[in-house]
Amino acid sequence: MVKKYFYIVFLSLVLSTFQINAFANRDAEQGRSYFPPILMYHDIKVTPINGFDVAVKDFIKQLDWLAAEGYYSLSMEEFLDCVNTNRPIPEKAVLITFDDGYEGIYKYAAPELTKRKMHATFFIFKDGINLNLPGYPYITDKQLKELAANPLFAIQSHTMTHPDLSNSPKIKIQQEVSTSKNFIEAYTQKPCRIIAYPYGHYNQDVLQAVKEAEYEAAFAVADLGLMGYEAKYTIPRIYMGTIMSENNMALFKKYIIEYKNMPADAFKERFGELPR
Ligand SMILES: [Zn+2]
Repeated sequence: MVKKYFYIVFLSLVLSTFQINAFANRDAEQGRSYFPPILMYHDIKVTPINGFDVAVKDFIKQLDWLAAEGYYSLSMEEFLDCVNTNRPIPEKAVLITFDDGYEGIYKYAAPELTKRKMHATFFIFKDGINLNLPGYPYITDKQLKELAANPLFAIQSHTMTHPDLSNSPKIKIQQEVSTSKNFIEAYTQKPCRIIAYPYGHYNQDVLQAVKEAEYEAAFAVADLGLMGYEAKYTIPRIYMGTIMSENNMALFKKYIIEYKNMPADAFKERFGELPR
């Protein structure tokens, strides 16, 4: 009887140790709830044309709200220092990011951010610099050099030519990922530590290449993840655009305040289809 009791106690001790370990491991993992709300902007325009534009007046409203509510905009270095050491990220922190490098980031976003001493990270692809598409002028070399010299800002990789990496051959993926890292480092004279996937698209080969090129983290759009890879290589971002901005500050606030509890499908890549 005593012996049987001993075995039961022993067995339950062993089981609970396993359980504790399993939970400890799960806690150590950086799931989405580890990350702060990360805003993904593209262009800032006086009058938005496309779904991913945000009007200057709305952008100002958003920054003012963040400041009034006591949110701190993390620098890319502060963000990575937390991620790399698994330190918790301050509760009222956000990360402000811009993809592609349109002229609006220099003309409108940077001055408003500077006025408020807010940090931002700009994901630039090489072929976009000096590009001039109708209605969509990109940043010039001279303007980008100025942003790169501002200690509030970080310039990071968005590849060389902005391909859909998930649809590219392995060799092309490796080239885009590693060559753009070297390019950004030579351009800014600072380390290139993060990449944002064009269109937010990635697959196993993309993640492999990003790890091999020694990026410390990577940003996507949708909240998908990939089995077997750390969440820091598939970090979802909040899609900022006309619907999000013209709206309805209400939706903006909801994403920031309820970020950790937002359902995964709230992070889909969208052009004007966000739920109200
Ligand atoms: Zn892009």
